[in-house]
Amino acid sequence: MDMNILINGVYVIVAALFIMGLKLLGHPSTARKGNLISSIAMLTGVIVTLLDQAIVSYELLLVSMLIGSIVGAYAAKKVAMTSMPELVSLFNGIGGLASVGVAWASLMTDGISSFVVFVSFLALVIGGVTFSGSLLAWGKLSERIAGRPLVFKGQIIVNVAVLTVMVAGGTQLLNSPQSSDIQWLIFVTALVLGLLVVMPIGGADMPVVISLLNSYSGIAACAAGFALQNNLLIVAGALVGASGIILTNTMCKAMNRSLKNVLVSGFQKVTSNSITLEGEIKPISADDAYYILEAAQSVVVIPGYGMAVAQAQHAMKELQVLLENNGAEVAYGIHPVAGRMPGHMNVLLAEADVSYEQLFEMDEINPRIDGFDVAIVIGANDVVNPAARDMEGSPIYGMPVINADLANTVFVLKRGMATGFAGVDNPLFFKENTRMIFGDAKETLNGIIRQFAD
Ligand code: NDP
Repeated sequence: MDMNILINGVYVIVAALFIMGLKLLGHPSTARKGNLISSIAMLTGVIVTLLDQAIVSYELLLVSMLIGSIVGAYAAKKVAMTSMPELVSLFNGIGGLASVGVAWASLMTDGISSFVVFVSFLALVIGGVTFSGSLLAWGKLSERIAGRPLVFKGQIIVNVAVLTVMVAGGTQLLNSPQSSDIQWLIFVTALVLGLLVVMPIGGADMPVVISLLNSYSGIAACAAGFALQNNLLIVAGALVGASGIILTNTMCKAMNRSLKNVLVSGFQKVTSNSITLEGEIKPISADDAYYILEAAQSVVVIPGYGMAVAQAQHAMKELQVLLENNGAEVAYGIHPVAGRMPGHMNVLLAEADVSYEQLFEMDEINPRIDGFDVAIVIGANDVVNPAARDMEGSPIYGMPVINADLANTVFVLKRGMATGFAGVDNPLFFKENTRMIFGDAKETLNGIIRQFAD
């Protein structure tokens, strides 16, 4: 059989496995399988390509794969669940740099067509932007660099100037693709542009930016695939590019913000928080909460960022079992942007062994939330803010939220009256059917658990 047909046949299978893997990654119960299938497909793709091209020796191939696997496994094992976006950011950056390497290598090849020069230019630029942008995003997110938006006068003019130099370099590259001066000029301007683009974005918006940079790393890889004329790299890059942009869009929608608003948030910070709050705060103790929970037939738990801070997921699981043994139905309502990264709550609850069948997405839980006796809001604030639904004056008006206030009784577990990520007041805390249980969420839950045990 023609070797070319065989290689491309394997590529088609690998591409199909990637798509299958992505599909399986869409649900927590199948995500591990999806991850495994995608990794095996990736390994097959790499091996087949390297064997086909015969550009490296078997020894070199084995040693580099071993080093890569050890570094990857160590990083994944060591990272705390809450630092996952930082790790993803670093991976994106390295992906961008890899595309830069591929682009540079193809530019150094003799007699390349103008098309290859063009796609190499794209890979060099997008890869460079992804690399420096991701490093800055990583720095901001891990608080190694101040997270506040960095804005200076004339920023847009500087951006346009850098872009112009880059495009001018690109035009020159068509005439002399092997000129290292031009290659460096383009690479350095791409690095500067990556920094300039991420600088004005606040640290708290970094998860959205990281998702966008993930998409960029895919586009860079896709361009590198065209430069190498490698079908699999084109497909894999396109898949990463498309899925990254879909995730970015989903996150923006769930935050009720446009991508433009996120990208220029340094210029448009929330300035008004002008809603009038009616009603009064009704604090109760964990002991009082116990009596209501003991009588409850159905309980919905709505976790948020505070549950991650308090690491209260294990205590919640313990309370869930006690409630179930007491005859109550327990469900969890998960908002798509609860916490600080996509899937944040799912990961924490999975860690505490909460069954997937008990997790309901916002659109599944909302239609039946008024049937629950008690809603326990654990460290969630913005994602249960009824102002987003009812109060046109609120800065978060229009954001889809979980309607916790429609349950019969609402318990809100938080330390004080601080606002959440969006910095806006929450009328839920003042509602007639709401009871505030102040304190660290884990300690509060443990207090209720102790009452059940007595
Ligand atoms: P919020 O940030 O709105 O609120 C979290 C609440 O937790 C705070 O009000 C805080 O109140 C409370 N809290 C903090 N520590 C503890 C503790 N130890 N025990 C009990 N409570 C605690 O969180 P949500 O999950 O409701 O909303 C997420 C927000 O993050 C949304 O605005 C979303 O748009 C945004 N976001 C989400 C991303 C994602 O991918 N998930 C990405 C980027 C932004 P107090 O200090 O009084 O205790």
